[in-house]
Amino acid sequence: MIRPPCAALGSPIEELAANKPRAVVSGGAGFIGSHLCQALLDSGMRVLALDNLITGSRENLRTLEGHPDFEFRQSDVNHGIFVGGDARYVLHFASPASPPQYDANPIHTLKVGTVGTMNMLGLARAKGATFLLASTSEVYGDPLVHPQPESYWGNVNPIGPRGCYDEAKRCAEAFAMAYHRAHQVDTRIIRIFNTHGPRMQVSDGRAVPNFMAQALRGEPLTVYGDGSQTRSLCYVSDLVRGVLGVLERGDEMPVNLGNPSEVTVLQLAETIIRLANSKSEIVYRDLPVDDPKQRRPDITRARTLLGWEPEVSLEDGLVRTLEYFRSVI
Ligand code: UDP
Repeated sequence: MIRPPCAALGSPIEELAANKPRAVVSGGAGFIGSHLCQALLDSGMRVLALDNLITGSRENLRTLEGHPDFEFRQSDVNHGIFVGGDARYVLHFASPASPPQYDANPIHTLKVGTVGTMNMLGLARAKGATFLLASTSEVYGDPLVHPQPESYWGNVNPIGPRGCYDEAKRCAEAFAMAYHRAHQVDTRIIRIFNTHGPRMQVSDGRAVPNFMAQALRGEPLTVYGDGSQTRSLCYVSDLVRGVLGVLERGDEMPVNLGNPSEVTVLQLAETIIRLANSKSEIVYRDLPVDDPKQRRPDITRARTLLGWEPEVSLEDGLVRTLEYFRSVI
């Protein structure tokens, strides 16, 4: 339902703009959030991006600033959200997302998944908007089922170093379902598996930025453990296409979004060295506590429900991301 513009409008251009559906995106200045804002604008929406800039950056929004349908507001969704006017979609992407980032901000990470989610759901309810939660494969913890279907409940250590992120996202999912059941809010939950692409921070601490920065600088690549743990990497454009599909055609039940092509971390390091034409060596470091041993999405549900399928292969995606890291290193 497109809600009528709430204020008297001046020019025909303002009237035209107000008829476009409006999306409110928390974490809009983050890696995935900024790509999502772009995609929403491209699909003809107005976008209000909210971000406290703890891990996001204004630089990520440089190409969007000045767009007539784009607005940025520096604010923390944990402190309450005050948005005037209409909103058709409310998308909650705010959160530190890499293990070193949530390790550095554990309480904020817990709050943004719980209080922040509740505030964003409240906004969606007040506006009659569809709400979408950016959840994560971390809800599966160190999975005992492989690959991971949405029906798997997970194996999470609540008191380990990843607990602040994993449990916050699990609570966020419970909040979304509660608002759906108790208040009939139209909700969506996506579980994002490892994703990479331009605008990841060089200092983010995840495997792809670390390996790429190290390979391009000729420094040794730091593989944690023996590198036999696996991940499945999705390129950001595929992920964002999936998010729009879920908004349009999803329901309240969670949808895995990720690329099922699985590699070991050692294979990933070797591939990045090769693609970067680097002479870097590989060194081995301690495996972080509770580091999941394997991860691969079962995307049957996304395929059937949305007709969604990742299109960018692992190597093509890594080449594109490398290009970005070359430009910033
Ligand atoms: N990893 C690594 N070296 C690094 C950074 C990460 O070997 O410099 C490993 C990490 O231990 C994990 C995998 O790469 O097994 C993916 O880590 P990342 O932080 O990218 O994401 P996660 O999937 O663990 O959230």
